[in-house]
Amino acid sequence: MNNIMKKSTMNIVFGLLLSTIAFNSYAEIRIVTSTQDLAAIATAVGGEQVKVQSLTLGTRDPHFASAKPSMIRKVFRADLLLVVGAGMEIGWLPPLLQSARNARVQPANSGYLDLSRVVPLLGKSSGPVSRAMGDVHAGGNPHYWLDPRNGKRMAQAIATRLGELDPAHKDDYQQRFKAFAQTLDRKLLVWQAELAWLKGTSVIAYHTSFVYLADAFGFQIVDEVEPKPGISPSAASLSALVSRLRVEDINLLIMEPYYERRSARYLNEQTAIQVAVLPQSVGAQPDINHYFDLFDAIVAALNIAAQDKAAQDKAAQDKAGGQ
Ligand SMILES: [Zn+2]
Repeated sequence: MNNIMKKSTMNIVFGLLLSTIAFNSYAEIRIVTSTQDLAAIATAVGGEQVKVQSLTLGTRDPHFASAKPSMIRKVFRADLLLVVGAGMEIGWLPPLLQSARNARVQPANSGYLDLSRVVPLLGKSSGPVSRAMGDVHAGGNPHYWLDPRNGKRMAQAIATRLGELDPAHKDDYQQRFKAFAQTLDRKLLVWQAELAWLKGTSVIAYHTSFVYLADAFGFQIVDEVEPKPGISPSAASLSALVSRLRVEDINLLIMEPYYERRSARYLNEQTAIQVAVLPQSVGAQPDINHYFDLFDAIVAALNIAAQDKAAQDKAAQDKAGGQ
């Protein structure tokens, strides 16, 4: 197909899309999201004008999903598809999009919004990427929703897109975005104050997923339990990590609930490193329904880990003092 034909086909598709939406302007906009984090933000911004469904659950590893018929039906009916992007859904979304045969939400069209395009991505690799390097996302690290400041950028992009698809409620979307941003700004200061003890410390993570959290709260992730992203640790890689932990001032290991705990237990036994299992997404725990709840829960989990560590250190000191 030549370019002019492509363009005119696109115009026809877009024209049809606009007329469908104008015709249905009284109806809810059906938003489908790849994760519950995106669903929570879309719900906050879309209010009663939208109906939001997530394709995956926050209790699961978002790198993997298997396309089920129910997911295809959701995508088929969607007016707007929100994705994390940056390679996060590369293993499961493209075949789903193909099976759903919904022109509105194909990547070139206005019913598709890739939120990785509106945030500054960390960890972009400059050199060539091969499978031997593990599950590396060449376009940058896709776990960006774990920086609350990115939540604001995502909400703004969603509000803008909703206003384009549904101009009659443009002001509603903008107002809800402003309220969301104000709450986020206020809460961020509280979270930062509560995690002040973490600032400047060195931490290890199970997977390369908490770099954005580290960036938002001023700590460093100096190593991962996975020797390469997506590759499980081996006896050799764990013992190398033990050697490092024995000489360096690293007291905290953070990880998602869905990874195996054996390696963390082993590292704890060998080096007394404190392990904090952090919810990584909305829906990871039953009490995390809103985007703000996610950070409330992360902050609480980190503070409990710090208290446990302090209690253990004190007990060890008392024991040493008593001997
Ligand atoms: Zn990842």
